Amino acid sequence: MEQTVPHNPMYNTASLQSMGNGVDAAPYLSIVVPIYNEEESIPTLYTRLTTELDQLGYSYEIIAVDDGSKDRSFSLLRDLALVDSRLRVIRFRRNFGQTPAFAAGFERVRGEVVITIDADLQNDPADIGRLLNKLDEGYDVVSGWRERRQDPFWSRRLPSQIANRLISIVTGVHLRDYGCSLKAYRADVLRNIQLYGELHRFIPAIASWQGVAVTELPVQHAPRQFGTSKYGISRTIRVLLDLLTVRFLLSYATRPMQIFGLFGLLSMLLGVVINTYLVLLKFITGASLADRPLLLLGTLLLILGVQFISMGLIGELVVRTYYETQQKPIYVVREELNNHHRVPIEREREAGR
Ligand code: UDP
Ligand code: MG
Repeated sequence: MEQTVPHNPMYNTASLQSMGNGVDAAPYLSIVVPIYNEEESIPTLYTRLTTELDQLGYSYEIIAVDDGSKDRSFSLLRDLALVDSRLRVIRFRRNFGQTPAFAAGFERVRGEVVITIDADLQNDPADIGRLLNKLDEGYDVVSGWRERRQDPFWSRRLPSQIANRLISIVTGVHLRDYGCSLKAYRADVLRNIQLYGELHRFIPAIASWQGVAVTELPVQHAPRQFGTSKYGISRTIRVLLDLLTVRFLLSYATRPMQIFGLFGLLSMLLGVVINTYLVLLKFITGASLADRPLLLLGTLLLILGVQFISMGLIGELVVRTYYETQQKPIYVVREELNNHHRVPIEREREAGR
């Protein structure tokens, strides 16, 4: 296929081809990096990543997702992308969050293996080789475990430890570090996973439910060198709420009637028993029901039961809409660099489209 390279004096096609990483050829590795105000880290990150990846010898692409940075992050990435076509840049219109950034990257990966890594240099690109070796042992997902995590104890490590335990118990997928960004996935695992909220950390759990092999590998972790963390303790609460969603979605998303209907039936049954007892009491002994709080409870349970069952039915309708309509993205892309998927306008015109 003919390569289409824009008329840009900075584009050195000869050197691109000599890298053996032709613009159109799909690489083996796709590295996805979420970036939000990381201008100080970007040059070092780029050097360390490319050095490590060149050493490993696989063909690769780096997909940098600029999540609406307000600093020079995007212009730094643009300058790098101009001279290195293996670096693809996606720029969001505003800050959407780390999960949408990962989602945008995942949607565009062309590699067979996807590596996610943070941009702040807390993860070490030198671990990528070990993650790949682990993957080769027959796993589909290898999740980094920051064995000696370099973050503050009270505000980060402790809440995260509690969250990891809880997530492990609730999901039944036991990992010691759900929050580590450094992970390796076989690309087809990611194709079936839609991300919302803070869900990216649950991918190993969701993947494991889908029947893929998940494992954990200790990785290096460095203190943040530049800038500040984008998160505080509030994330723990958001993560816990997402855990509830994940659990519900995975267990009942396709059959809401079975959970709401069960509550509804139980509640109605109890209501019927209580109210039948009261009615019999009135007719047999002639007792007045005016001062029986039990009547209130029985009636409440009956109404609740009807409501639960209706909710289950509505849920069934919603689920059908959810699964059958076209799924919409959770972000808005501002621009994209080196997106080799797109058919150039000239060719589109030629084809009469
Ligand atoms: N990040 C992002 N969007 C956000 C917040 C963070 O893309 O809204 C990126 C950030 O640039 C970094 C990674 O996600 O590369 C992890 O963020 P951070 O280091 O602040 O989290 P921590 O390591 O403290 O959990
Ligand atoms: Mg960090």
